[in-house]
Amino acid sequence: MRLVLLGPPGAGKGTQAQVLREKLGIPHISTGDMFREAVLQGTPLGKEAQKYMESGQLVPDEVTIGIVRERLSQPDAVGFLLDGFPRTVPQAESLDEFLAASGRPLVAVLSIQVPGQVLVGRLTGRRVCSQCGANYHILNKPPHQAGKCDLCGGDLVQRADDTEETVLKRLEVYEQQTAALVGYYQQRGLVREVNGNQEPQKVLADIGLALGRDWG
Ligand code: AMP
Repeated sequence: MRLVLLGPPGAGKGTQAQVLREKLGIPHISTGDMFREAVLQGTPLGKEAQKYMESGQLVPDEVTIGIVRERLSQPDAVGFLLDGFPRTVPQAESLDEFLAASGRPLVAVLSIQVPGQVLVGRLTGRRVCSQCGANYHILNKPPHQAGKCDLCGGDLVQRADDTEETVLKRLEVYEQQTAALVGYYQQRGLVREVNGNQEPQKVLADIGLALGRDWG
């Protein structure tokens, strides 16, 4: 199965991807996670990406396309779940070209939609485990013990780009540069619309229906 998860920041792409990769047995490829890891490791890629991420801007296409092509060239990427990529039309075109050349076109694009005012609350309240990456929310999904991960006991932190100012910038960048991709993939007959403004379990069930899988 070769899928793209499309939707604004805070739509729940990462949350769904965590479950989908298990259910579908395909790697979850998140450019945001790849950039965050590079920042953590202090690599040249991380240093380059950090300036853009901190201000809510997109990392330049040539850098992003390069890391995705490299990842998709690995042997486990026969099927995949792309999360946060593509984010611009040139990225989508480059992806099409790359996948066509290797004879493995996309099967579907899951477009997860959530109203803008809900997204701001979701993102500014989000907390992430600094050790295992599990997601929480101060109101919607608080941990059992304040500031600690239920799964591994790690410290919960706020992502540097989840502050209100940067969140508003990220949503603006989404509207300007990424929202057009829904139309791009609609023209190619790939879009499956999913209502992301409901409980994660319900979103997952709707994704199952959209993919013709009955996983409850
Ligand atoms: P995410 O975790 O998907 O919200 O991504 C966090 C940040 O990483 C974004 O705000 C961008 O700065 C950068 N980023 C992630 N994916 C891409 C992409 N496909 N193109 C450009 N920048 C990206």
